[in-house]
Amino acid sequence: AEGGGIREEKVLFGKYELGRLLGRGAFAKVYLAKDVRSGESAAVKCISKQRIIKGGLAANIKREISIMRRLRHPHIVRLTEVLASRSKIYFVMELVKGGELFSRLSRGRFSEDLSRRYFQQLISAVSYCHSRGVFHRDLKPENLLLDENGDLKVTDFGLSAVSDQTGHDGLLHTLCGTPAYVAPEILAKKGYDGAKVDVWSCGIVLFVLNAGYLPFNDPNLMAMYKKICRGEFRCPRWFSPELKRLIGRLLDTNPETRSTVEEIIRDPWFRKGLDGERWAA
Ligand code: ADP
Ligand code: MG
Repeated sequence: AEGGGIREEKVLFGKYELGRLLGRGAFAKVYLAKDVRSGESAAVKCISKQRIIKGGLAANIKREISIMRRLRHPHIVRLTEVLASRSKIYFVMELVKGGELFSRLSRGRFSEDLSRRYFQQLISAVSYCHSRGVFHRDLKPENLLLDENGDLKVTDFGLSAVSDQTGHDGLLHTLCGTPAYVAPEILAKKGYDGAKVDVWSCGIVLFVLNAGYLPFNDPNLMAMYKKICRGEFRCPRWFSPELKRLIGRLLDTNPETRSTVEEIIRDPWFRKGLDGERWAA
C-alpha cells in the first residue's frame, strides 16, 4: 500500500504539519503546511515515488528540483526544501495565498489594463528563466498563482527543460505541455526551441486573460490540433488594435518569425504605463 500516507500521520518528519488541500495537478497534490518550529505557513507538493518511477519521471523530478533551487525571482514560486519519505517526495515551497489565475478567469475576463499587469509579471519571470537557459514549457493559468497583493507567481517546473538537455541539433524533442497551450512545432514533432514554445503559450495566456476563453478550442482534440497548426483563431471585437497586433506576433505558427521575449518587452501594448528603464533591466 501507499504505506502510512502522510495524510494519516499529519506530520511530515516532525517538521511540517499538513493542512488542507490547496490544489492538484497531473502529478501532484499540494497541501497547506505549517512549519512546526517557526509556525510559518508553507505549501507542500507531494509526489508519489511510485508514479515517478512508473512514469519514468525520475530525471524530470531531479531536474525540477535543481532548476527551482537556482531560481530567485519575485514572480517565481520559491522552493525552500525537498524532503522524502518511503513512498513520497515533498517539495516545500513558499505559500502563495491568492489561488490560481485560472479560477479568477472563471468569473470572467479581465480588462486590458489588468491583463497587461499580469502579462508584464509573467514576461518578467519568463525573461529571467530564458536568460538562464531555463524553459518552463507548461505555462498556463493553472500554473500561475496570485499572492495576497494580487501579484502573479509562476509555479510548476515539473516539465521545464534546461538548455543543456537539447539534442545535437540544439532543439528539444520531448512531447509535453497541455493540449490547448501547445505550440504547432511541438505537434509537428520536428524538434523545437524551448524559448519560442514558451512565447507561444504566453500568447495563449494573453489571449485568455483578455477574452475569457481559449483562442484554439474544440471538443475534438484532433480538430483542435488542426486549428493550432493552421493558426486559426479570431480576436474578439473588444481587443484593441495594439493588443491584436501583439497577439498576432505571439501566436505566429512559424517559430522563426514569432516574437522573442526581448521583442515583447519592446512592444507598445506591453510597455504602456511602464516605468521602462527600471523594468527592462
Ligand atoms: P502539477 O505538477 O501536478 O501540475 P503543480 O505544481 O502545478 O502540480 O501544483 C498543483 C496545484 O497546486 C496548482 O495548480 C495550485 O493550485 C496549487 N499550488 C501549487 N503550488 C502552490 C503554492 N506554492 N502555493 C499555493 N498553491 C499552490
Ligand atoms: Mg501544474
